[in-house]
Amino acid sequence: MSSYLKLSGISKTYGQFTALQAVDLDIEKGEFVTFLGPSGSGKTTTLMIIAGFETATSGSVDVAGKSLFGLAPHERNIGIVFQNYGLFPHKTAAENVYFPLQMRGWDKGRGLKRAAEMLDLVGLKDFGHRHPKELSGGQQQRVALARALVFEPSLLLLDEPLGALDKNLREQMQIEIKRIQRALGVTTIFVTHDQSEAMSMSDRIVVFEKGRVQQVASPLEIYHKPQTKFVAGFIGESNLIDATIADAIKGEAACPALDMVEYPPTDTVTNDAPVTLMIRPEHIKLSRSPISGRKNVRMKVETIVNYGDNALVIGRVASQQMRVRVLGADVVIIQEGEECCISWTRDCVYAIAS
Ligand code: ATP
Repeated sequence: MSSYLKLSGISKTYGQFTALQAVDLDIEKGEFVTFLGPSGSGKTTTLMIIAGFETATSGSVDVAGKSLFGLAPHERNIGIVFQNYGLFPHKTAAENVYFPLQMRGWDKGRGLKRAAEMLDLVGLKDFGHRHPKELSGGQQQRVALARALVFEPSLLLLDEPLGALDKNLREQMQIEIKRIQRALGVTTIFVTHDQSEAMSMSDRIVVFEKGRVQQVASPLEIYHKPQTKFVAGFIGESNLIDATIADAIKGEAACPALDMVEYPPTDTVTNDAPVTLMIRPEHIKLSRSPISGRKNVRMKVETIVNYGDNALVIGRVASQQMRVRVLGADVVIIQEGEECCISWTRDCVYAIAS
């Protein structure tokens, strides 16, 4: 893989506190990469080091084979959009978008023409004369995006840009940002702690936890093959079951609550190794009686959370809590407090080395 943006061994300490630890990352030209992780995991710090607003304690940042070391933020040719937009209130939308070009010595006529083209691209053709206070939150965010893109940056950095928007507008802007990013082919890093946003928008996701990168992979790979228990728990809903490998060749794991559970063997675990078995709630079938050809266990239903077209059934098998996603007609077959059967096939079980 050719690397366009390369982070090598980036660490950041504040006094005794380590905010980032040996972060390595290779991003290809034109990729849309999302930094995902809980609050305080180091996403923004990494972004700020790339942008030049923070200095790494150690490590290097290269873009297109050139080190950014020692360059001030405005010398890095990077476009940035923050959650709070950061528009100049006394300038119109067009003047805001023109500003980076003004800084680069463009004359006003040519600069405003280019700004108008960018406002058109973000869907604000007729709004150039308005001031930020005359625009909605979503429109202000589009202006901020146009301003970050107008000078054809080598990188676009988006730090929780949709955090202040309501759900509908947020989904609309997710689609818009993807459309614009594809149209321009600009290499983009998007920071969020919203996993569904990361899943729907990204070519690849970088999962952060406590200043370390846990996994870098496509959304589907992160979902189906999480490398660590943390990633499995953070992305989507999952049943995470502690077990011990009984037969690594056949793919059998012993767990206290569910007895022997079969899984597709992998070469990452050996006999007697402690593992976490992941089964996604949508891969478990709920029924009144056992279904042949599947692993069946009896579950006492404790809570049913109804979402209309589907429901989350939470129950217990001995000491193990299990979550089952049921769809359509199956939603009505069971009541809270009843016993039912849950079953799954072995290929739905994924063993993660502890
Ligand atoms: P959020 O989603 O809440 O924005 P984040 O993953 O972006 O979180 P960072 O802002 O990168 O997290 O912060 C990483 C850690 O570094 C946090 O524990 C934070 O408190 C700490 N940190 C950040 N800036 C400073 C600073 N200037 N001084 C001391 N600690 C800092």
